[in-house]
Amino acid sequence: MYARVWGCRGSLAAPGSDTIRYGGNTSCVEVRLDSGHLLVLDAGTGIRALGAAMEGEEDELHILLTHLHLDHLQGLGFFRPLFRPGADVHLWGPASPVQSLAERIAIYLSPPLFPVRLADIPAQLTFHNASEEPVTIGSATVRAESVTHQGPTVGFRIEEGDRSLVYIPDHEPSLGVELAQQPTAWISGCELAHGADVLLHDAQYGDHEYPNHVGWGHSAIEHVMSFADKAEVEHLVLFHHDPYHTDDELEALLIEAQRHRGTVDDHVRLAHEDMTIVLDDDGVSFSHATAPNAGMI
Ligand SMILES: [Zn+2]
Ligand SMILES: [Zn+2]
Repeated sequence: MYARVWGCRGSLAAPGSDTIRYGGNTSCVEVRLDSGHLLVLDAGTGIRALGAAMEGEEDELHILLTHLHLDHLQGLGFFRPLFRPGADVHLWGPASPVQSLAERIAIYLSPPLFPVRLADIPAQLTFHNASEEPVTIGSATVRAESVTHQGPTVGFRIEEGDRSLVYIPDHEPSLGVELAQQPTAWISGCELAHGADVLLHDAQYGDHEYPNHVGWGHSAIEHVMSFADKAEVEHLVLFHHDPYHTDDELEALLIEAQRHRGTVDDHVRLAHEDMTIVLDDDGVSFSHATAPNAGMI
């Protein structure tokens, strides 16, 4: 399995001179399976460049939406494969008791918010409720689990062979509980993330910022470190960077994370655009895609 980060900013795109190293695009991660299948985790603004890099590629793909906040959906109408009539696009997202996934996405993909209606998208679209039961896609099994955030929200676990990648970009597992004291079975998302080789997880706030944002649906550094320890993950990638955080401030958050862990090693790192992750029989390796198509399979 190969993954590449196309956007790791939270809440709102934040381009500019002080977000160059980690990037300003909102959530989008490409996952290529050994079987050749493509999974796209969220459709934030990062999905635009992914779609542009995919010209001429095969047509079946799966877009896994953790939830429908705009920072995870806003790029969908700019994803070129949706405008190819032959494309077979599967959209997965959290179930809602009120409206179907298609109805909720159509709120955004319709005038006056967007000029093209969802029903007029040329690609063949198939909608699925994200399943808590494992679903086979190509050489992987994928399952979702509801997590604590604002509105219906899931995280995803992708397993291929002995390797696993877990993606929980928006998550406040500390809400109403003391994480360090809580049995793992009672911690939101902990079972989904348990033993993962790689966890990409919400790390929106510094510890000093969190008291002003309790209940907003995101994690402080203290919480994500405690969560990763409880879930016994191998590699933690701090994700969903606050749009107000500069590159320098993000690096200060990494130091805060290392202080919580008590060690400085490469098992905790900051997500950045063009980060690539290879998970295979040899283990896990991180790198940096140096050109738009570098590392693509
Ligand atoms: Zn978000
Ligand atoms: Zn959100």
